[in-house]
Amino acid sequence: MEKYNILFPKIKNTLQVFITNKCNKKCRKCFVANKTRHVDMNLSQYRNTLDQFNGYEKIILIGGEPLLCSNFDDILSENIQRGINTTVYTNGSSNLLSNNKIELLKNDLVDLRVGTLGYSGMEKTIDVNFLEIFGKRITVVHMLRPNNIEQLNDVAHISFNSGCRNLYLSSIVDMEAYKDFWTNSEDELSHREYSHVVRSFLSGFNLDMNIHVALRGIHPLYFFKHLANIPEKWGGENCNICRIISVFNDQSTIQCPLDISLRDTESVSFGKRNCKRHEWCVLQKAILKRGE
Ligand code: SF4
Ligand code: SF4
Repeated sequence: MEKYNILFPKIKNTLQVFITNKCNKKCRKCFVANKTRHVDMNLSQYRNTLDQFNGYEKIILIGGEPLLCSNFDDILSENIQRGINTTVYTNGSSNLLSNNKIELLKNDLVDLRVGTLGYSGMEKTIDVNFLEIFGKRITVVHMLRPNNIEQLNDVAHISFNSGCRNLYLSSIVDMEAYKDFWTNSEDELSHREYSHVVRSFLSGFNLDMNIHVALRGIHPLYFFKHLANIPEKWGGENCNICRIISVFNDQSTIQCPLDISLRDTESVSFGKRNCKRHEWCVLQKAILKRGE
C-alpha cells in the first residue's frame, strides 16, 4: 500500500473569539451555546479585543454559531479590512447564509471549518447545500464519539462529492466530566480508541483529500506507524508553548481552549506559557495525503 505523505504544521499564534453563544443546534455536551442568556459581541467590543492583543497571526471566529451573531458581517468585514487571516468555525447551516455573508466568506483571507457529528440522526449533521456553495474553501471537521464512528466514511465521501478537499478528524473531549484531559467519560473515545479509529480509517481511505488528524497528545509513531514515514524531528518536541488565546462574548479570556468548561482565567499571552497538560501542545495536528 502506498504510504501517506505527512506534515506537522506549527500552531500559529491564534486569537479565538467567541462572538456569540446563540446556536441553532443543541449538541449534547456543548460547553458554550444556549447556556446562559444570549449575548452577541458588538463591533466596538470586537475592535477593542483586536487592539488588546499583540502578535496574533490568525483569528478564529467561533460561537455558538458565529453566523447567528447579529454583528457577524461587520466583524468579518473588519478582519478583511485589516488584512487578518480568519477561520470561521461554523456548523454549516445554509439557511443562515445571505448574499452578503456568502460574498464575505468567499474572500481570500477567509477559511471555513464546518463541524459535524455525522450525516444522519445526530444533533449536528452536514448540510450538503452549504458544502457545495464553498467547496474547496471548507475543511469538514468530524468530531468523533462512540456513536458516530461508522458515519465517518460516509461523511468523507459526501464531503468529497460536494467539492471539499480537506477532512479533519478530531474527537469530543469532555473536560467537564473528570476535569482531566487524560481521563475519558463513556461519551467520548479514549485516547487508545481514538487512535485505533483514525488508523483503521486511514488504512482504507483512498480519496484525493488532505486528512488532518488532531493528535490529542498521542505520539505520531503510535498513530501512523506503517502508514507514513515519520521524520525523526517531527515538530512536536519543542512545541510545548501555548499559542492560542480564547476571548468570550463577555470579553473574559482563557489560555487553553480545553479550559472552556473550567474557565481557568490565568493571565494570557502568546508563546510564553508552557503546556500544563503534556510535554507538547495536545492541540497539534498532522496532515496526511497519499503520495503522488
Ligand atoms: S453546533 Fe457547536 S455551538 Fe452549536 S450546540 Fe453544537 S457544538 Fe454547540
Ligand atoms: S495548555 Fe497545552 S494544550 Fe493547552 S494551549 Fe497550552 S500548550 Fe496547548
